[in-house]
Parts: sequence; C-alpha cells; structure tokens
Amino acid sequence: MSDKPEKFIDENGLRLDGRKLDQIRDIKIEVGVLARADGSCYLEFGKNMVIAAVYGPREVHPRHQQDSTRAIVRYKYNMASFSVEDRKRPGPDRRSTEVSKVSREALEDQVFTEYFPKSAIDIFVEVLQADAGTRTAALNAASVALADAGIPMRGLVSACAFGKVDDTLVLDLSKDEDNYGQADVPIAMTQDGKITLLQMDGHLTPEELKTGLVMAQEGCRQVYEVQRQALMDHYAKMQDANEDETEAPSVEEVITAEENEASEDVNTGTEEVEEVDEEVAGETVEEVPEIKENVPEEEDEETDKEIVEEPDTEEEDSHE
Ligand code: UDP
Repeated sequence: MSDKPEKFIDENGLRLDGRKLDQIRDIKIEVGVLARADGSCYLEFGKNMVIAAVYGPREVHPRHQQDSTRAIVRYKYNMASFSVEDRKRPGPDRRSTEVSKVSREALEDQVFTEYFPKSAIDIFVEVLQADAGTRTAALNAASVALADAGIPMRGLVSACAFGKVDDTLVLDLSKDEDNYGQADVPIAMTQDGKITLLQMDGHLTPEELKTGLVMAQEGCRQVYEVQRQALMDHYAKMQDANEDETEAPSVEEVITAEENEASEDVNTGTEEVEEVDEEVAGETVEEVPEIKENVPEEEDEETDKEIVEEPDTEEEDSHE
C-alpha cells in the first residue's frame, strides 16, 4: 500500500493523477461480451475493471424466495483475489455482502419487476482490478448488462463518487484519495436525478454535501452518456449483422435458386442446339456455292493452270 501523500492538490488546482477537481476518470464500456449470459457488460472506470452478467427473468431457486407478485432482483458483487494489491481472501465477506445489498437496492426500483411474477433476475459483478470506486463501476456495468438482457427498466442507473481531500471537494476519488481522504460519498442516480444509492464515509458539512451532490450529478450525467452510447453502438452493430443475415439467402432459397438455374441450363441447352441447327442449316444452304467453288478438283485444275501458265510467261519473257 502506498504512503499517504503530503498534498492531494497542487498549486495549479490539479490532483495527483493530473485531473481537475470535477473531472471523472476515463470510462470504457463494452456491451454483450459474454455468450452464456442474457446480458453482459465489461467496464473500465480509470484503472477499475469489472464485468457484469445478467440472467433472467428465470425460475427462482430456492423456491421459497419466490414472490407471486413480482420478480426478485439478486445482486452478487465479488472482488477477485487478484484484483487488489494484497491478495484478497476469496469468497464473500462483510464488505461484499454490504456492497451487494446496497447495489441491488440501487437498481431494483428501476426494473419493472411486476412484469415477471415468480421469477428472478440475477446480476453478478466480478471486480477484476480494483482502484477505488469499484461499487460505482460495478453498478454502471450492471445497469448496462440489465439493458443488454432486455430487462424492461424505467431507465439506466449511473454512479459516481465524490469526496473531500485537502479540505476540498473532488469528483470520482482515486485510490489514494479514497484511502487517505477526509470523505468518500458513492452515489447512484437515474437520468432524472433520482438518487438510488448514497453512502458516506468520513465527515462533510451540510453545505459540502449539497455542493458534492451537484458535482456527483454532473459526474453521473457523463457516465450516463458513455453507457447510452455504448448500448447504441452495440445495437447498431447487431442491426447491421442482422441486415447482412437477412440479405444472405436461406438454405431453401439456395436450393430453389440452384434448381431454377439447373432447369434454365437445360432450356438454354435446347435453345442452343436449335440455334446451332438453324445456323448450320442456313450456312449449309448459303455456303454450298462456296464449297462447290472449292472443290479440290477445280482447285487442282486452276493451280495446274497457273503453274502451267507461269513458266509459259517466264518462257515467253525469257524468249523476249
Ligand atoms: N480494497 C482493497 N482490498 C479490499 C477492499 C478494498 O484493496 O479487500 C481497495 C480497492 O482498491 C477498493 C478501495 O480499496 O476499490 C476502496 O474500497 P471501498 O470499500 O471504499 O469500495 P469502493 O470504493 O471500491 O467501492
């Protein structure tokens, strides 16, 4: 673990990683990365790497968890043991149970659970690399994976934390800011600004909380844009692929086309034979005189004549 930095913000107002106070880390989202899941998403938020998979709506096991009026939403957050600096002990712990609970609650309200009574919607998130803000990164990925699974939702949920370092509010905490800062406030919200997750670690004044919420709202709006764009790009690609498939002929079409082609060949063959016959017939009539002119006997006679005549001429010439 790194030591506590002396200062988190330099004289130019920039943070340790060069970001401005209200700047979020880069986000990269890939939709539909897992073939076996109904919906999935790979997401990078700075150095955080998470993968989310959604299954359902599907049968509930164990059955006693079934709700006859709506679908139940289950959320499992897990940190891979290789995702952190010091190897994390595999399996669930108090922290992952807490993160799973609050994340489920952050998403559940956005899902039209009443459409799928007696069923379950399962969300699994694996943190492959952790660098502060994994619960917000995981929520962003889960939200996209739910959309990818075609689960009817009121909207996407976008998440981003704000906090305080050097008595200054900053957006989207880095690892050092999270570990040694004065406050960490992960937030998730819907597009219309409804907060679905708000936790706080540390101390803030009411004024700071208000200002921080405005900062986080802007951060979530930026996250939302990336989520939306990733989904749109994914479905544009799928649409293109479907159109290509539509253009490609089916097996039946290929067989029918081949049969038609074969019968056309037979017809064309007959026509060709007829054409050839007609041509031959025509030529035979027209070319008869030519053939007659070229009768070998006559040719020979003419050739003979020429041969005979030539020496005569030459002889005559020579006599002259
Ligand atoms: N962390 C760790 N080991 C753990 C749990 C967390 O190294 O067992 C690190 C990890 O980088 C994580 C950060 O501490 O992102 C902050 O953890 P926190 O509990 O605040 O949750 P997060 O910010 O990831 O949502």
